[in-house]
Amino acid sequence: MADSFDVAVIGGGPGGYNAAIRAGQLGLTSACIDKRGAFGGTCLNVGCIPSKALLHASHLFDEARNEFPKLGIKATVELDLPGMMAHKTKVVGELTKGVEFLLKKAKSEAIVGEARITAPGKIDVKLKDGATRSLTAKNIVIATGSDVAPLPGVTVDEDTIVSSTGALSLKTVPKRLLVVGGGYIGLELGSVWRRLGSEVTVVEFLDRITPGLDGEIGKNFQRILGKQGIKFQLSTKVVGVEKTSAGLSVTVEPAAGGAQSKIDTDIMLVSIGRIAYSDKLGLADIGVALDSRGRVTTDAYYKTNVPGIWAIGDVREGPMLAHKAEDEAVACIENIAGRAGHVNYDAIPAVVYTAPEVASVGKTEEELKAAGVAYKTGKFPFTANARAKTIAATDGFAKIIADAKTDRVLGVHILGANAGEMIAECALAIEFGASSEDIARTSHPHPTLSEAIRQSAMGVEGWTMQM
Ligand SMILES: Cc1cc2nc3c(=O)[nH]c(=O)nc-3n(C[C@H](O)[C@H](O)[C@H](O)COP(=O)(O)OP(=O)(O)OC[C@H]3O[C@@H](n4cnc5c(N)ncnc54)[C@H](O)[C@@H]3O)c2cc1C
Repeated sequence: MADSFDVAVIGGGPGGYNAAIRAGQLGLTSACIDKRGAFGGTCLNVGCIPSKALLHASHLFDEARNEFPKLGIKATVELDLPGMMAHKTKVVGELTKGVEFLLKKAKSEAIVGEARITAPGKIDVKLKDGATRSLTAKNIVIATGSDVAPLPGVTVDEDTIVSSTGALSLKTVPKRLLVVGGGYIGLELGSVWRRLGSEVTVVEFLDRITPGLDGEIGKNFQRILGKQGIKFQLSTKVVGVEKTSAGLSVTVEPAAGGAQSKIDTDIMLVSIGRIAYSDKLGLADIGVALDSRGRVTTDAYYKTNVPGIWAIGDVREGPMLAHKAEDEAVACIENIAGRAGHVNYDAIPAVVYTAPEVASVGKTEEELKAAGVAYKTGKFPFTANARAKTIAATDGFAKIIADAKTDRVLGVHILGANAGEMIAECALAIEFGASSEDIARTSHPHPTLSEAIRQSAMGVEGWTMQM
């Protein structure tokens, strides 16, 4: 077994494993090191994949109970929570094994252990059996991802006070679930447990949920989640939690300060964000620069300030998303191989996998206003879309934002069923520099939800036809 590589990647998540695969494709020898034991990182083990497995299963459960009667289907459904969790575990197992297969195919050595950079080009890996394996690499790619952000004064025990990881594996459906943080992870997991029967309250410090979303979309999204039964306490912060004989007593106060009050709950999910995982890598000793939020600083080529050391994914700046990590992996390795890798950050979509879904790519109206860019919008509601009617999913709308002068698409925001699948078309439009007219004049199959995107594009020039 060689201990010397062209590229050693620390972290086996979407950033790390895709970097190792691309390295193999470009003829570079590589190793991919992860301490977790199963490859795939946060995304496959405790993130995107298990959450989507539970979101899908709980959505079907909810549909069967509440929507089937509207479609003329009578069904008696019963929750089998262990069975639902088994589905999740099976999917995670298959996909993490799949990553091992892909690494093997790319001739990348998958090493299980905790890596520490001892000097530029040198890594010590603490293996499972306690032994240390020393590696040398011409290039080291840091892809160590992120971890749950702690809430001051609150200790996560993954029993009654849980992070997203614990919330993916609750043994029973809690009667009451308090979600701290109205970001996409809290809302997705809150939705899972609401559908399975929990009373869900979301406490959010800001005066709105999902702060990065287009404001109009965010407002409508909150209204729809409210109709589904999720309660919101905005502009509120959690300042403490006490275990009582009846569960948890959570102390909250207005974000701006003021009188405290209590919320009783059975489970509290702390989901106030994630922080870059740059600890324990020896970065301070070798002088790799971090920003004020502990993220590894890189240039546009993913190079850190130390020659031969690169960083990608959640551990560096930018949206903490699996596909962003993957895009950076490809670009970083191509740069290492002497090619011209780059990522277009204006064309990275983001999706909230609730029902309805929320998907966006490019700029929001708020961002364009702040930047002083003149724009036009076109909108189309799913209530006027034939497919949405046939599948009884008429909540939401699609919105296209285009440059007022050039008509170039600057942003697309969709609140509606299947928004996450439809946004790929819009990312492609932005990547190709499309105008709203290009989308409006592109044939879209009928009847599909995607026709709402076309109709909203027509709306930019004021010729929406089906409303
Ligand atoms: C509940 C939840 C749901 C999510 N859903 C989505 C979604 O639907 N879509 C989406 O795009 N994103 C989603 N995300 C975010 C997504 O998981 C991350 O953006 C993505 O995993 C980042 O990839 P990464 O490769 O940068 O890091 P990670 O996936 O975090 O991988 C980093 C790996 O590095 C390992 N590591 C750290 N330090 C060391 C070391 N010293 N030595 C060896 N190994 C080390 C860690 O064990 C980890 O396995 C979700 C996250 C969570 C928590």
